[in-house]
Amino acid sequence: MPQGKPAGVRCVHLDDQQQCRLFGRPERPQFCRDLLPEPAMCGGDAREALAILTQLERDTRP
Ligand code: SF4
Repeated sequence: MPQGKPAGVRCVHLDDQQQCRLFGRPERPQFCRDLLPEPAMCGGDAREALAILTQLERDTRP
């Protein structure tokens, strides 16, 4: 995603199992490599993570 991934847009590098196709590869963006998952951000499952991240996006919208 040459212009960066906009908020609310699914990353083109996610596969059907919600796994990053670039994981462990040098093409993976530095931001993604630096972001450490934690329960406060990811919750207990994908549904909870999406709810938390959606709220974070709302709360930090310019
Ligand atoms: S880790 Fe980064 S590159 Fe990989 S799927 Fe998530 S946003 Fe996309």
